[in-house]
Amino acid sequence: MILEYHRTLIRIVTATHQINGFLKEIEIMATPEEMWQCQTVNCGYIYNPDKGDKKGKIPKGTKFDDLPDDWKCPICGATRKCFRPLAGPGSSNDIKCVPLDTNSNK
Ligand SMILES: [Zn+2]
Repeated sequence: MILEYHRTLIRIVTATHQINGFLKEIEIMATPEEMWQCQTVNCGYIYNPDKGDKKGKIPKGTKFDDLPDDWKCPICGATRKCFRPLAGPGSSNDIKCVPLDTNSNK
């Protein structure tokens, strides 16, 4: 009887752990406000903080705001100014994106 009770308890605890793990996964998913899309014509690359940017050596979990100033779109090389969030206050701002290579001669 007691053994049966313990088995049930273990089952409940295991199930709770599984649910917690599931919730954790949802929590670390980026919201649309944290995903930024490149506005350059024909690009459309989306920066996802969950994935980072392998090409730019940006580790997973780096927010767009925390990217280095000289970070560029891994697809087309556009600067950060060419990006806007998928949602949120900044998503409807007009982007004045400078075409590639006209403003990068330092
Ligand atoms: Zn781009």
